[in-house]
Amino acid sequence: MEEAGKEEFLRFANVKKTYDQKTLVVKDFSLDVKQGEFVTLLGPSGSGKTTVLMMLAGFENVTSGSITINGAPMTTTAPYKRNIGMVFQNYALFPHLTVAQNLAYPLTVRKLPKAVINEKVAQYLKLIELSHFGDRHPGQLSGGQRQRVALARALIFEPTLVLMDEPLGALDKKLREQMQFEITRLHQRLGFTVIYVTHDQVEALTMSSRIAVFNEGVVQQYASPDDLYERPANAFVANFIGENNLIPAAISGGAGTGFVAASMQCGTAIQARNGNCGARDTQSIISIRPEKLAIKTEGQAFDNQVSAKFITRHYVGDFIRYYFQLSDGSNVTVKTLNDTKAPDFTEGQTTVLAWMTSDCFAFSTHSSPVQGEQP
Ligand code: ADP
Ligand code: MG
Repeated sequence: MEEAGKEEFLRFANVKKTYDQKTLVVKDFSLDVKQGEFVTLLGPSGSGKTTVLMMLAGFENVTSGSITINGAPMTTTAPYKRNIGMVFQNYALFPHLTVAQNLAYPLTVRKLPKAVINEKVAQYLKLIELSHFGDRHPGQLSGGQRQRVALARALIFEPTLVLMDEPLGALDKKLREQMQFEITRLHQRLGFTVIYVTHDQVEALTMSSRIAVFNEGVVQQYASPDDLYERPANAFVANFIGENNLIPAAISGGAGTGFVAASMQCGTAIQARNGNCGARDTQSIISIRPEKLAIKTEGQAFDNQVSAKFITRHYVGDFIRYYFQLSDGSNVTVKTLNDTKAPDFTEGQTTVLAWMTSDCFAFSTHSSPVQGEQP
């Protein structure tokens, strides 16, 4: 769907990359990004995310395909004229320069007048709440403060496009969350376009307008965070975004538009949403999120149910995680809120797990990559 008033800004078209002329580390990468979007490339280590950023920055050649900004190929603009800001996990600040001198650097190389530079440096120090730290050296700052300076240095020359490659990877959880907040706040205030790389799905979900889920050099799905979570395109995405129980089943037939009937390996007949699964008699993977599975009690109505053996339960504070096993040996996790109704069982006790068909997908056993709907 076209977002009102936002033009297509950056476009990757069928980009391929090989380093050794044998294996493609980026297989066929196409992606459209609108001006002002916050797009995240999310995928496991080695899936080709950094390679995509390096090609965009002009540090690596594209083997085939094209990258265009406002319709013009990247390669027609010299790297220093591309007006791209960059923040990397270990993007070192100049240790011999003060914080203020580090921030001034991109403006000095662009030959801005001294008065303008001083004004901008003060403005950006304030923006990252380090106004009193301008005279310090990077070595006198905490990790989080250093990363804020690196962020300000990437933004101070007002780039239209900012690339961030796992910029928070070296920070501990609390600082990381604080920086996620800082980055999204700056993005909203300043309106630049971000291509952000991470392997952390929570980070991707909280920060992005759209996420491209990457695996083995191929985009598995490109969609908004809630679409990825609510409507995963295949079993890889279902398992990578959040948590899912993946249970083997065989498709037994249709069950109305968009739905299928299936027989779980334990023999239980169920219905599920058709997530690009195969036809009748093909093997499939049923996916149900742990929070969508209920431990059935009297008087509740569900579409599907299966009997399960209790293994153990873990207390996690605000919720309780239960481990069950189905009769075919499949392990199943159930997450319930920790309230007075949370039941307890003895090991080996049999109970009934239940869920709604709308919360359950049948996927193909071959993760079939689906490029999300392009605008
Ligand atoms: P990610 O950032 O998702 O972890 P990368 O883009 O760094 O993935 O790497 C993708 C693949 O390309 C990996 O198999 C990696 O070993 C390989 N690779 C990355 N950079 C180079 C390089 N400069 N030369 C050769 N192979 C590389
Ligand atoms: Mg990387």
